[in-house]
Parts: sequence; C-alpha cells; structure tokens
Amino acid sequence: MRYYLLTIFFLLNSIIYSQNSGDYPLDIPIILSGTFAELRPNHFHAGIDIKTKGTEGFNVYSIGDGYISRIQITHGGYGKALYIKHDNGQSSVYAHLKKYSPKIEKIVKEIQYSNESYTFRVYPKENEIRISEKELIGYSGNTGRSYGPHLHYELRDDKDRPINPLEYKNYPILDTIPPVVLGLHYKEIPQNSISGSNSSFKNLKITKISNNLFISDTLNTSGLIGFGVNSYDRMNNTWNKMGLSDIKVNLDGEEVFDMNLNSFSYDEWRHINTFIDYASYKNKKIRIQKLYIEDYNPLNMYNRSLGNGVINIKNQDKVYLYTIRLFDFNKNYTEILVPIRWKEKTNYKINGLKSDNIYSINKDSIYNLLFASSSIKLSNNTFYTDKEIEIIERDNILSIDEDSIPVLKVITIKFNTDRYNDSLVNKTYIAKLDKEDKSSFVSNNLKNGKLTANIKLLGNYMIKVDSIQPSINLIDVLDNQWISNRDKLQIKINDKNSGISSYRGTLNDKWILLEYNPMKGILTYDFNDNINNSEPKNILKVNVTDNVGNTKYLEKVFFRKVKK
Ligand SMILES: [Zn+2]
Repeated sequence: MRYYLLTIFFLLNSIIYSQNSGDYPLDIPIILSGTFAELRPNHFHAGIDIKTKGTEGFNVYSIGDGYISRIQITHGGYGKALYIKHDNGQSSVYAHLKKYSPKIEKIVKEIQYSNESYTFRVYPKENEIRISEKELIGYSGNTGRSYGPHLHYELRDDKDRPINPLEYKNYPILDTIPPVVLGLHYKEIPQNSISGSNSSFKNLKITKISNNLFISDTLNTSGLIGFGVNSYDRMNNTWNKMGLSDIKVNLDGEEVFDMNLNSFSYDEWRHINTFIDYASYKNKKIRIQKLYIEDYNPLNMYNRSLGNGVINIKNQDKVYLYTIRLFDFNKNYTEILVPIRWKEKTNYKINGLKSDNIYSINKDSIYNLLFASSSIKLSNNTFYTDKEIEIIERDNILSIDEDSIPVLKVITIKFNTDRYNDSLVNKTYIAKLDKEDKSSFVSNNLKNGKLTANIKLLGNYMIKVDSIQPSINLIDVLDNQWISNRDKLQIKINDKNSGISSYRGTLNDKWILLEYNPMKGILTYDFNDNINNSEPKNILKVNVTDNVGNTKYLEKVFFRKVKK
C-alpha cells in the first residue's frame, strides 16, 4: 500500500512539475544521487546530482532567463559544462553533459576547430549569447569525473557562492527517510589545548531504539570531550548515500553546537579536511563529522555564538545527557542520546615514542629539509597546527609521514637524478605510491638535474622511469576497410606508466576533434564534423604522447563513400 501511495505521489508530482515549471533543468522526475555540501574527497559538493535513469541524452533546460557566462570542457572535473548568469543575479551550472544544444554546439565546435583542442574554457560577453527560461541547452551525460550518467546542477548567488537549490527552489523531492547513523565517536581533549590533541577518536557503541532514535552505552569519563558522528542521508526511491543538512547538539537541554550546510564559498572547500577527522578518513575510510570546532577551523557553517562544542564533564554526582540531532534537507531527523557519567580520567598520554626521523614542525616557520638524494621545502602555515611528522628517505623512496594530516599549502619536493644516465634522465618522473604501492604520475619537471614536484598530500614519493610508448588501437576498423555507414571512429589509447599527456589526430592532414574519455581511455571522432575528402580514400593519423614524452604514432587507411 505504502509503495503505491509513494508511486502515485511521485507520478502526480512529476507530471505536474515537468509540465509547468521552468526552473527545473530536466523533464524527468527528480531523484537525487548527491546532495548539496555532501562530503567529497577534499571538497564539499557544490551542487546537486540528479539521476538520469542510468542513461545519457535527456534534454537539459535553462532554469531561467539569462546569458551564457562560461563554456568549459575538461577531461576531468565537470567534463562538458555550461554556466548561465541569470537576470536575477544568480547563476546556474550544468555539468557532465553529453553534448550541447545545436545552437551552443555550433559555437563549441567552432572554438574547438579553431583552437585545435577538445578542451577549452571561454567566457562569452554579457548578453552575447542570450538564453531563455526552459530553453534547451544540452543533453545529460557522463563526461569528466563522473561515475555514472547524471546531471550535476549548481545554483550560485549573486556573489558566485554555491547555494542549495533545494532551499531556493520548490522541487518535489520525496524524502521521508531520516539520516542513517553508522557510528558515534568521541575524543578526550587535553585541558589546555583543543587543537593540540593528538589522541584519536574512540568508538562508542550505539543501540537502535526505533527508526530514528539511538541510545549509546553510558560514557564514563571526565574533563573535556569532543564528539564526532559518522552519518549519511537516504531518500526514497534511491539507494545513494547523501549528505546531511543540519546537526544540532544539546547537553541537558541546552544547545551547545549547531551547524548548517546550506551555502559556502569556494575558498572554504579545502577546509573540509578539518570539518571531518582527516586521519580516520584516510586510515579507516570513515568520515567522522566533528561536533566541535578547533581554534584554527575557519568554516562559516557553525553557529559560533554557542561556543566550540567541546563539553566539560566535571560534576561527579550527575548523569549528563548529550543529545545529537541529525537533519536532512526535508527536516527528517535522527536522534542519538548519549548518557555520560563522571569518572576519574586515566592519565593522558602524549603521542608515543620519538625517534630520529621525527621532525617537529612549528606552523609559523619555514623549513628546508635535506636528505641524501632529495629535499623538502615547507612554507609557514603548511599545517593547521604545530605537527610532529616522520620523514624517512630509504631505498630511493621519500616517505613523508602518511596521508592522514591535511596539508594547506603546497610542499616542494626535489629529487636528485645523478644515478640516471643522459639517455634515461629525460624519461624520469616523480611518482606517488599509494598504500598498495601502486604508483601514479606527479611531475616531470626537470631542472638542473633535479626533478621537482609541488605536492598537497603527504605519503611516499619516488623517481620512476618510463621508456615505454603509449599504445593506440583503432577499434573495429581494419586496414583499407570500407566504413561508409559508420558515424563515429573510436580509438583506444593507453599508457601503463606515466600516463597520457596529450593526443592529436588528423584526417587527410586536417585536424580533427577527438573527444577524450579518460575513464575509458577512448578517443572518439564524429563523422558529422564533416572533415570530408573528395576521394573515398581517407588517411587517419594519430599521435599520442605520455607524461615523459614517449610518443606513439598510428596511421590507418579506410574508405568512405563521397557525399555529394
Ligand atoms: Zn555533482
């Protein structure tokens, strides 16, 4: 019964909504796979992700009158994206598009063929390309850093700050499910320093009482305590994990912490690593959202008039009740009750052993650390606080602690290339090793015999050599084959070591637009671009270069009927 009601609700909404409303970018029912300010690696999600039934090609419409303020195509990131500045001062952004509407696509192809590049970014002048509300602007897709077809849709205020579309628009989203709680965590904080706490979060067991009520084991402790919660939201009709909207906390009925995720500015993005506990995220893959604010935390999403959220357990005779309420955007909430009883604290232990490889980094100082064949330069304020970090150079690997400390400024690392002879040195690059020792390209910047990289993640780095060419294979086309009926050419490219850096293709010696999908490693040419030959014989030439300059060349002849 419930299911039918939900379905009817949904059908009615989608029929009414899609026919009447111009401020929604699709004409299929709205189901989300990502919410505003959701926690992503190194940033808060700046828009909402709308599901497109697992396929591409749905019409995307402008949500209002305005003009195109930016067209941008990148291999990663937003892929094919369109930015519209509206007459009311707000902007909207549509990303991961499959292609643009014919009107815009024409402009895009002109830019691409004149730049001889698939990727570009242009800012058309004010009102140069007018767009009206509900005008077709493109088709939903999966380009850029996207893990499945969807529309990334963003709304920004007149100062270009991302705002939550669900707050400003009246979209009919069905969400009756309260946030899900995966874990409750707490940390004992030294009396004098909330920021200097090196202890890690401990888990506190919780028991489910009802759909949206949990109670934890009694916490026996004393002194300053900070809590953290691992939680996500769910909505009806989708299994995607989404972000929360608000978290409100009180202690014995008095409000002690409140944060709200309905807008933020772009310079706040990177500080997500202080919103969550970065070490738990990197080491255990869990995102603990902290319910207290360190001194150095610059984010604006907290109600700071309530204090920093750290509670002080000092009354020996009573049981405290700490209550967390987690809200989603539809104001469904889940409550966690945490009874706390005073108990004498066991001695607080500072940070374990020190050894020769530990460097005490004062956050206000500059460091130039030299090792046998490498060096590290740290500028001031690289870390949020003073830090002790472990650095070892061993077996040609420069190991800079581990990626569990957030880094605010780039760190410059340099490697000597003395042990590589002249023919090899130009094939060297700096690679980062992940925990499974899989390597990824970081930099090939070689100057005065030194490889340099600016890094923003701690961890293991080393020099690697790549002397192997990329591979290029034309898919499903044999030499001298007739392919008059094809409308596309697809070319598989790959580079095992340093990775693809650039590619270029010509047909009968005229540059052709090859759209690169880096996730699949496929270049696509569209015969509708009309780089035609007056003869049936066509010569395709493709060059692919990797990150250290190894190049592979492919030449292929095929035949097509000449269009009259
Ligand atoms: Zn998105």
